[in-house]
Amino acid sequence: MCERCGDSAHGFGADGTSRRDLLLSGAGLMAAPLVAGMAGEAHAQTGQAEQNVNIGPSRVRAFAVTGASRPFSQIEIERRAVGPNDVLLDILYAGICHSDIHTVRGDWGAPNYACVPGHEIVGRVRAVGRNVTKFKVGDIGGVGCMVNSCGTCENCLADREQNCLNGTTFTYDAPDKVSGGHTFGGYSDAIVVTEKFVIRIPPGVDLAAYAPLLCAGVTTFSPMQHWQLEAGQRIGVVGLGGLGHVAVKLAVARKADVIVFTTSPGKLEDAKRLGAREAVLSTDADAMTRLANQFDLLISTVPQAYPMQPFMNLLKLDATLVNVGALGELQGLNGMLLGFGRKSLAGSMIGGIAETQAVIDYCATRNIKADIELITPDQIDRAYERVVNKDVRYRFVIDMTAGREG
Ligand code: NAP
Ligand code: ZN
Repeated sequence: MCERCGDSAHGFGADGTSRRDLLLSGAGLMAAPLVAGMAGEAHAQTGQAEQNVNIGPSRVRAFAVTGASRPFSQIEIERRAVGPNDVLLDILYAGICHSDIHTVRGDWGAPNYACVPGHEIVGRVRAVGRNVTKFKVGDIGGVGCMVNSCGTCENCLADREQNCLNGTTFTYDAPDKVSGGHTFGGYSDAIVVTEKFVIRIPPGVDLAAYAPLLCAGVTTFSPMQHWQLEAGQRIGVVGLGGLGHVAVKLAVARKADVIVFTTSPGKLEDAKRLGAREAVLSTDADAMTRLANQFDLLISTVPQAYPMQPFMNLLKLDATLVNVGALGELQGLNGMLLGFGRKSLAGSMIGGIAETQAVIDYCATRNIKADIELITPDQIDRAYERVVNKDVRYRFVIDMTAGREG
């Protein structure tokens, strides 16, 4: 067993390339014996049957981009054996985040192929390791953007695993410190994750519409917590997509005064339906002038660099624009204007595990969920095009049970 992570599943080979080759070499969809016939519903009914038993590695169906500019195709990947602290989830739903698109399209550098994205995962627990206490077979669990971290650095100890000083293990396309190779995300039939990184999903919620909360939810909730957005304060949400529409709902729940900045005339009315008091086109120079120096907080979800100074001008003295979108070089900031208004530009990266659990629980008690379009795995490529064209209302979620054998 690994002293570092407590997992027994080491030894699949640290050589990422050869492992990838191994994973890609399997033809057809014949699942390993431990997978065959283990559909979630059946196991939900068997109760403790898979509790505390040894489950070996399994081969599962996944949807991957296997090379630059290629469309998605169905492959097999290997999931590690269920270690003592692990939870095995049969994935039910996987949201499509714009980060998935950036990754497979190489916007952040070439990914490791085969790339299986997906970090908005909801699934049913099929098996748990012997030390697991948080879940039992048949429970519903969620996995967001991370599947592990060192657990010992000051950031991890402060519940900020996303900022782990020794390297957060992100859910996909990150070095897999347990099995070698790189991690595979939620566009797949099953996943094995250490218990700490699995989020409890309360009973009775709309599971497909909760998947996006595991990334879009916590990414927008975290800045509202950190910058302490209060009732009556004015917040601007820039970009009404997956993150933006959840941000609106979360800010409305805090009784903040929400104004949406969009580039899409067709979303102006939607923004109000979602609870914003006002929505403006960010190209409307008169509106941008009228609203100058009025905002306590801005959250920008725009997926690429854009001239930011017009938005910084909207902030009150000492207020902050939190950029969660554009993750490359930022554009068009004026140091004099920032100084004159003592305005801050901040970045923020998802949220910790405790915060992810908090946003799920927060939404469950307030009846907040994402607005989704449910698709099947064969529609992923088309969905990506629609996201890039700002044409999703407001999150695609893949029904991972569609076409699944068993
Ligand atoms: P999304 O669903 O595509 O929404 C982004 C929205 O931004 C679009 O709907 C559009 O809204 C607006 N937009 C798009 N292109 C634009 C452009 N060229 N100029 C101005 N506005 C534009 O994406 P998402 O899933 O919400 O993700 C948004 C960004 O956040 C992505 O870059 C993603 O990688 C990043 N992200 C970051 C974190 C983090 O932890 N920091 C977590 C998740 C995602 P309008 O039509 O209203 O203009
Ligand atoms: Zn995401």
